[in-house]
Amino acid sequence: MQELLEQLRRQFLEEIAKIEWEESLKELLSNYLGKTGKLKEILWGLKDLSNDEKKTIGPMANTLKVFMEEEIEKKSQELEDAHFAKIEDEEAIDVSLEFPLKGRGHRHPISITTKLMEDICISLGFKIADGPQIENEDYNFDKLNIPADHPARDVWDTFWIQDDINDKQPKNNKFLLRTHTSPVQIREMLKGRLPIKIIVPGRVFRYEQEDARHTCNFYQLEGLMVGEGVTFGDLKWTLDTIMKKLLGEDTKLRFRPSIFPFTEPSAEVDVSCQICKWTGITTPQSPPSKGGEVVRWKKCSMCSGSGWVELLGSGMVHPKVLTACGIDPEKYSGFAFGIGIDRIAAQRFGVSSSRMFYQSKLKLNEQF
Ligand SMILES: [Zn+2]
Repeated sequence: MQELLEQLRRQFLEEIAKIEWEESLKELLSNYLGKTGKLKEILWGLKDLSNDEKKTIGPMANTLKVFMEEEIEKKSQELEDAHFAKIEDEEAIDVSLEFPLKGRGHRHPISITTKLMEDICISLGFKIADGPQIENEDYNFDKLNIPADHPARDVWDTFWIQDDINDKQPKNNKFLLRTHTSPVQIREMLKGRLPIKIIVPGRVFRYEQEDARHTCNFYQLEGLMVGEGVTFGDLKWTLDTIMKKLLGEDTKLRFRPSIFPFTEPSAEVDVSCQICKWTGITTPQSPPSKGGEVVRWKKCSMCSGSGWVELLGSGMVHPKVLTACGIDPEKYSGFAFGIGIDRIAAQRFGVSSSRMFYQSKLKLNEQF
């Protein structure tokens, strides 16, 4: 019996030395120490031995069992160490290795323009406010004086969130992708902390047919100032200052009466075209003919030859909007404006269609 144990020990050591994988080690453990393992088999034989023999062989078998367990544990650790050493070796990164650097990325023209506009507005005392891109109907429309039956809702072609989500929403409060940044104004006014002087740069969504001037998502920068004694004159000065800083001191502004549900009075604001410098024509496509007589001037495509580009909407916050947000319109007044960042970017960088900013054209974007 003693000899049998010794033989088993030698066989075990031989086998364990050859093992290279954790899986094989588990197999070995089961083969020797498992319920039907080789050591168990020997222990079963103990019952046929005399009491004296049992006293000698029993502890010997137990010692062998402990020895095997320890050896397996040791081997398992060895295998694990070897595994990690291999990973370290294979995945090592030589940080000192030199390789040719590809051109570094840079800000997108829209991001550059947004940052610039933010800096200008901050210098005028505005703070940046932010809000969710998925809004509810109440903030996006109703509180802005655009109830469900208002014709102005048709102007904002809206992306609504899936029916199975909106079905669970209360009537008139369904989720949508915000069609303008104005709901953030509502969120700010509802906080009830006056005066308010914020800008809201952000992405908005419209269900639009795409063309040179329209895309189904674009960026807006909205401004809002509410307090005591805020006038249309403040609005004009603010916009004039922002546009001159943004597009150049020679920029001219033109206010045209307009209608927006959330402002009264309202004005569309045009700026003098930066592409043609207010002339309505651009430099000739082909140089003058040799005789010096014929010069083929081209009508400016940005302003359609008018010299003016429609860039923003503005007005005094409608008393109904103030009331909806718990602000007394008898005591407080405010102005608001919304600027298309994409169009400003197109003006600043002389790009004829703001849609091009969304077409992932590196050749275009890398110029700025
Ligand atoms: Zn022009």
